[in-house]
Amino acid sequence: MDYKSYIREIENFPQPGISFKDITTLLKDGEAYRAVIAELAKKLEGKQIDCIAGPEARGFVIGAPLAVALGIGFIPIRKSGKLPGQTIEADYALEYGNDKLAMHADAISPGQKVLIADDLLATGGTIATSINLVKQLGGEVIGAAFLIELLELNGRDKLDGVEVLSLVQY
Ligand code: 5GP
Repeated sequence: MDYKSYIREIENFPQPGISFKDITTLLKDGEAYRAVIAELAKKLEGKQIDCIAGPEARGFVIGAPLAVALGIGFIPIRKSGKLPGQTIEADYALEYGNDKLAMHADAISPGQKVLIADDLLATGGTIATSINLVKQLGGEVIGAAFLIELLELNGRDKLDGVEVLSLVQY
């Protein structure tokens, strides 16, 4: 399926010079959304994965249905202050200033094989922070899966050699 034809590009969002890849136009098409999840699941066939972790908010939209498709659990990675239980946190750099991502301290057992999922890999900052959190909990990050990869930002290089899977590249 030509996924790009379902993804809308919005110029100068969220700031001048950025061409935002809007996936809401793909998500609202049931066939396209299902095809994305089915293709990611197929490409991951045969890999030993215990659970999927995904950062809010669009990481949930890809990671949770992928976890259901693979018959494994999903673990939310959230902005600081949102999770109710005891958490661990890690800083990540934003365009301006810093923010923190958090996971429940008991979300992963040491040695579990974790796949990280998000909608889009840009600079890699979000996923590098997610990998850091999973490793702090003793998880083994066995890969990172995306719908979209922005190649010119070289996000892969920030991911510590973690294997990257993406369906659409710009
Ligand atoms: P990174 O941390 O790799 O620079 O940015 C990736 C994160 O920002 C992802 O969580 C993704 O949801 C969001 N993001 C950045 N640019 C875009 C974009 O053009 N489209 C979408 N859908 N998300 C983006």
